[in-house]
Formats: sequence, C-alpha cells, structure tokens
Amino acid sequence: MLTERIRRVKPSATLEITAKAKALRAQGRRVIGFGAGEPDFSTPEHIKEALIRALEEDFIYYTPAAGIPELRQAVAEKLARENRVSYDPEREVVITPGAKMALYAAIQVLAERGDEVLIPSPWWVSYPAMVELAEARAVFVPTYEEDGFRLLSDAIAERITRRTKLLILNSPCNPTGAVLGRSDLKAIAEVCQDHDIFVISDEIYEYIIYDGEEHVSIASLDGMKERVVTVNGLSKAYSMTGWRVGYACGNAEVIKAMTRLLAHSVSNVTSFVQKAAVAALQGPKQEVERMVRAFDERRRYIVRELRSIPGVSCVLPKGAFYAFPNFSAYDRDSFRLANYLLESAEVAVVPGAAFGEEGEGYLRFSFATSMENIKEGMERIKRALEEYPKTSSGS
Ligand code: PMP
Ligand code: GLU
Repeated sequence: MLTERIRRVKPSATLEITAKAKALRAQGRRVIGFGAGEPDFSTPEHIKEALIRALEEDFIYYTPAAGIPELRQAVAEKLARENRVSYDPEREVVITPGAKMALYAAIQVLAERGDEVLIPSPWWVSYPAMVELAEARAVFVPTYEEDGFRLLSDAIAERITRRTKLLILNSPCNPTGAVLGRSDLKAIAEVCQDHDIFVISDEIYEYIIYDGEEHVSIASLDGMKERVVTVNGLSKAYSMTGWRVGYACGNAEVIKAMTRLLAHSVSNVTSFVQKAAVAALQGPKQEVERMVRAFDERRRYIVRELRSIPGVSCVLPKGAFYAFPNFSAYDRDSFRLANYLLESAEVAVVPGAAFGEEGEGYLRFSFATSMENIKEGMERIKRALEEYPKTSSGS
C-alpha cells in the first residue's frame, strides 16, 4: 500500500526519544531527559503579547503563501544587519512552518532522482530522510572527533561526482556542536564554486555559540549568495519550538518554487504566529542572551562531568546545546547503551548511531535542561555505568 519512498524513511529518533521520555514521565516515572533538542525556557513575554494582540485584532485569515510582507521585511533586515547578506524581501525570502519545512521545501525543489546530496556526518536525523523523500541519494561526508568534528573541504571534494547537486551545511552543528569558522567556510565555498554545487545552510543554532566564536553565514562570502539557500527559524533562538516558524532566503527562482510547494501543501504559517515573529525579530535580545549564558554554564558542567567518567572522551561543543561524548569504551552499540540508561537509570539520551555511522559509539546529551536535572542525571549515569560491563573487547 505505501510508497517506496515513505517506506524507506525511518521515524525521527530525536522526536521519538523526546516523546518516550514524556510518556514515561506521565506514568509517574522520574525520567531525566537529555533527549529533547529544545530550549527549556518560556517564550519571551513581548512575543506572546504580540500574538495575543494579533488574535484580538482578528488577524486570523490566510496570508500570502510566502508570508506576510512585514515579516519578510523583518527577516531581510535581520540578515542584512546580522549576517551581512542583503535579500529582497519580496522575491528572496519565504516564511515556513519551522526551519524543518524550509529545509524540506528547499531539498524538494533542488534535488531529484539521480542527484547526490552531500551531508556531513554525524548528521541531524531529518536531512537524509528529506533527501530520501526527494528520491535523491544522500552521500555522507565524515567528520571526526580528532578534528573537533570540523567539516574539512578536502573531505567534501573527495566525494564529489558528476551527479553531486547539493551540500547541506549545519553550523553550529546538531549533534556535534562543531562551528565552522570563516576560513573553513571559505575553503568549502571554493569547492562548491569549482564544482557548481548548491548549498543549503541550516543556521538554526546561530545565536547559541560560545567562547566568543563568530557565526559566519556562507551566503555572505564572495560570489556565494546565488548558490546558497540560508535557512533559519525562531525555535531555538527564542524558545519557540511549538510555534512553528522558520524561513529561507536565497535565489529568487528557488524561493519562488519553494513558495509554490508551500502554497499547495501548508498554505501559510499560522497568521497570528507570523505577527508574533515580527515582534521576535525586531524586539530586544536580552532574553536570548540570558538563555545562551545558561546553556554555557550547563555546557561547561556537563562536559566536565562526562570527561570525569573513566574511558569517556568529549569534545567541548562550540555551539548548539548538545554534548556528543564517546562511550565506545562501554559499548560500541549506542542503541543498547542508551536503552540500558533509560531502563536502569531513567535517563533519556539519543544513541549516536541515530545520527549515522560516524555517530556509532557516541551518545547525544541535550543540555537544554535545568542544572538540577543535569546534576541528578549525571549522578544516575555514573552509578548505572558502574554495573555496566565494559566491552572494550568490542562485543
Ligand atoms: N535543523 C536542525 C539542525 C535542528 O536541530 C532542528 C531542530 N528541530 C531544525 C532544523 C528544525 O527546527 P524547527 O523546524 O523547529 O525550526
Ligand atoms: N532538533 C531537535 C533535536 O534534534 C528537535 C527534534 C527534531 O525536530 O528532530 O532533538
């Protein structure tokens, strides 16, 4: 009954682990969740107020499929101001239900059967699924712990064939926390220009960046704007995961095609949510900065704790809110280890293998949860691991 393309797509491991932890909690079990990749803060008040105001003003009708003009304008201003790329709000910006739909639509309009799409590995779970749904082929570009999971331009170049159409970039990266610097991006841009490859740049964790690292948009580099679709959203920056609002900026022809896809599928992002999104983009940033400071404190703590476990190594993430420690000294099967931690310690983590072959042996810990939970969770893990047979022989 079902199509080949949907049968090939696996459920989202990140959403499933989040749902599983919530369901166990509803049964009264005291599960500590390091699974969910979503900020644990409330959405800032002024954004909520803007939504309520829009509802009171009866802003409840269909909007243009590309989004309301004032929101597209606010997005274009944000990119010009913060990312140093100028986009025409009427032709080069589209508002989407979450960054996820921006990625999905961009892949749908840029890749098809016979095309190859380069995805750095470990990857966020939805990229390969989206490529499958476009009937294109995902080609993985490995990144390694020894390099701090930085994506190297040579590794990209080695995997380019006649069929390579697209490269998906995600800096700061989910799940590794790697951040690509200006020189890394320049080298990657050069490879893309030499081989005429399009780039989708997922910058959803842009603000969640530490130690004075600079977020650089690849679209801002010389000659790149026309071949890059910049994707971003409000979920992580303003703690608005459930609101579903994101956007894409790029080449007018690509944006127009994406808008056509949206018009025939979702119509538009919820009208009053779009009004609130204008308030988010134009409003004060103190709340965002407060969240990032809290993530930074948790990051340092959790990485220290993880490194204190014998046999475990952990790269200090430069961005996003995930730690990606190497637990292969305990078990090379990360699904088995994650299950054990959930059953015996009531701690939810995402097995590294959910993020591809290069993730096997690792676990992803989202530290978008309170310090109290992190402390308790780490104590439970340490206790549970004392009973876990180490499998350094490689079972
Ligand atoms: N990209 C990455 C790397 C993510 O981690 C997420 C989180 N779900 C998204 C995109 C999608 O975010 P949203 O659809 O909530 O904007
Ligand atoms: N991006 C988050 C995560 O990786 C949320 C879940 C999802 O959309 O996949 O956990």
